[in-house]
Amino acid sequence: MILVFLGPPGSGKGTQAKRLSSQRSWPQLSTGDMLRAAIQAGTSLGREAKSFMDQGALVPDSVVIGLIGERVKQADCASGFILDGFPRTIPQAEALDQLLTGLGRQVQRAVLFEMPDSLLVGRLSGRRTCPQDGSMYHVESARPRKDGVCDQCGTALIQRPDDHEEVISNRLKVYHRQTEPLVGYYRERQLLRPIRADQGLDQVSQGLAEVLK
Ligand code: ADP
Repeated sequence: MILVFLGPPGSGKGTQAKRLSSQRSWPQLSTGDMLRAAIQAGTSLGREAKSFMDQGALVPDSVVIGLIGERVKQADCASGFILDGFPRTIPQAEALDQLLTGLGRQVQRAVLFEMPDSLLVGRLSGRRTCPQDGSMYHVESARPRKDGVCDQCGTALIQRPDDHEEVISNRLKVYHRQTEPLVGYYRERQLLRPIRADQGLDQVSQGLAEVLK
């Protein structure tokens, strides 16, 4: 199954994508993770992306379309995959449809993680991330066993540059302006499946399982 996860930053798409990916062996294709890997590797693509990401702006469509175009052709995507954070604009959605049509495939569901902005700010500003393995924590609701250190690998946790309070409001604005139109795009194609994301992890997973039946 080819799934698109849609929703504002901080709505838990990545967490649920990781869970589902380990249950069903569909890889999680996160453009955010791919771009951060390019930044860490110091590639020219990474340098270009960083300036947009640090401000909470979107990276140009051509860059992320290129990344996804390469990725979906790899063998592990054969039985399905979860698109987490892509598409984020209408041109990206159109490019995705074109790409998949060329491969004789199509998106089967677009799951919308619904959550009010008022909750997102607290989730994002309190988020701490392991730069090594991508594990996520929260200073109040999901603290690591030892303050500031990843439970899995012992690496010092960081606050992502775009999780700083000044940048968060811009990311939410960008979401409403550029990404929310995709709700209509997938609704028109009868692929949209909204779920409530302002609940506990297991309840969200359950909601997700329901819409995948
Ligand atoms: P979140 O969902 O929490 O905002 P991501 O890791 O998905 O975090 O994305 C972080 C940043 O990476 C975005 O703010 C944007 O700059 C860039 N990015 C990720 N995916 C895309 C995309 N599909 N199109 C454009 N920019 C993207």
